[in-house]
Amino acid sequence: MTSTNGLVCDGCGQMASAEHIARRLQRLEWTTRYRPVHINTLFLGAFSPQDQKDFLYAPGDEFQGEAAQLLDALGISIAGKAADAVHSEFQRAGFFLTHVLECPMEGASTLPAEVQGALKARLPALATRIRRSLKPKRVMAVTEALAPAVEDIVRLDLGCPVLLDRGKPFRLVNSAGENVPERFREALAGTSKN
Ligand SMILES: [Zn+2]
Repeated sequence: MTSTNGLVCDGCGQMASAEHIARRLQRLEWTTRYRPVHINTLFLGAFSPQDQKDFLYAPGDEFQGEAAQLLDALGISIAGKAADAVHSEFQRAGFFLTHVLECPMEGASTLPAEVQGALKARLPALATRIRRSLKPKRVMAVTEALAPAVEDIVRLDLGCPVLLDRGKPFRLVNSAGENVPERFREALAGTSKN
């Protein structure tokens, strides 16, 4: 276990060790570099991924997990490109990705009730961040992990619409018989009939 020094992280509201804060600041630095001046579409996930390779804005030439799924669903190819080129393409499209908790969940608290509680506790801070700072034209809820909080998110005053897939966050990968990325792309292009 890492020791905490009584600090609460301003990115996630969890009790934070020095390492936790250092990782948070590192992610913030990577992310800020590719933040569009005017955000068109804000993709909203639940938590920053545990693994750095799953974190969209991490340097290095490997995209895995959530980062790879999002890029794939958007049709942004990563083959043969440096991470910087991929990040720039994402930024130029007016896209930005953030999470309700800007850090991974700490410790073993992955029980559904605890996850839901952690997400809900951060919603007021999220609403303020979106309304005052990020100011996107629209928010698209993505990833299954966000599902426990999605009904509360649509009730927040974010100053812009929240796009959902039939009342749920958009999933980014196909599941049995459903072309999920297609619905995601239709909503993104504004051609969804839902
Ligand atoms: Zn944190």
